[in-house]
Amino acid sequence: MRIIVSHDIDHLFWHDHLFDTWWPGLYLRTIRQIVRGDIKYTVALRRLVTGKTLHNIPALCDYLVENEIKSTFFIGTGKGLNLSYSYKKAGPILDLIIKSGFEVGLHAIAYNDINRLTEEVKRFVEIAGFEPEGVRTHYLRFDQSTHEVMSQSGFKFDSSEYKVDHPQLRHNLWSVPISMMDVRVVQVNDEKNLQAAKKRTFEILKSAHEAEIPFLVINFHDYFFSSAYPWHMAWFKWLISELKTEKYEFISFKDAVAILNAEMHMEKIDEMSPVYKDSIQ
Ligand SMILES: [Zn+2]
Repeated sequence: MRIIVSHDIDHLFWHDHLFDTWWPGLYLRTIRQIVRGDIKYTVALRRLVTGKTLHNIPALCDYLVENEIKSTFFIGTGKGLNLSYSYKKAGPILDLIIKSGFEVGLHAIAYNDINRLTEEVKRFVEIAGFEPEGVRTHYLRFDQSTHEVMSQSGFKFDSSEYKVDHPQLRHNLWSVPISMMDVRVVQVNDEKNLQAAKKRTFEILKSAHEAEIPFLVINFHDYFFSSAYPWHMAWFKWLISELKTEKYEFISFKDAVAILNAEMHMEKIDEMSPVYKDSIQ
């Protein structure tokens, strides 16, 4: 089993959220966590009194480069569900990610509307200069038509289905499920629960091995790569070091798609008659 690390970019700057519900939600959650004693005041202050930048992409890129981890970032060009940054402002950040050697895909808002998804792709091309091959929807939104719509929009792979399962070819697009995500594994931000997060992580790894899936997809939001979210960051660093110690190979989605296509090609050859097989080998 190989590891695919990915990052959904949900936030860029604090002023992007002046007209949505993100700040009130953050304040409510943080106050509740202080009252329950889940987080310290210093951590709460770091969350609530922030500089203008909410993303932690340069620091995360440095960390990934240092640890030689291949990674794919999904960046949004549409707006919705508190993903509120301007795609034009995402341009320089996308350049930094690409220059650091990482791959980029679309963090899509549209999931069943071909016109809206095509518009998001067009904006991605405007800032990146190339078409995105991969997509993951914001909040993993998904319905019966999602893969068909994605395929029609030119995508080669999607990673929006949350489960431990094998990749599947649907409408000529590889669905590579995501099996491990920070917000589902690190549920409460206290030291005691980092142990619980590690336990959940080992359970997912175990079921991934039992299901014999070829790739384990992990998602870690760059937003959490900060001292304002010490346990999320600690979990991610622990996970990377654990996987490196166990000698797992880290690959990108593009590598995975190339492997899947090569395997499918070999299977097709195997199904052919021996005479024709000889002629093309
Ligand atoms: Zn998202």
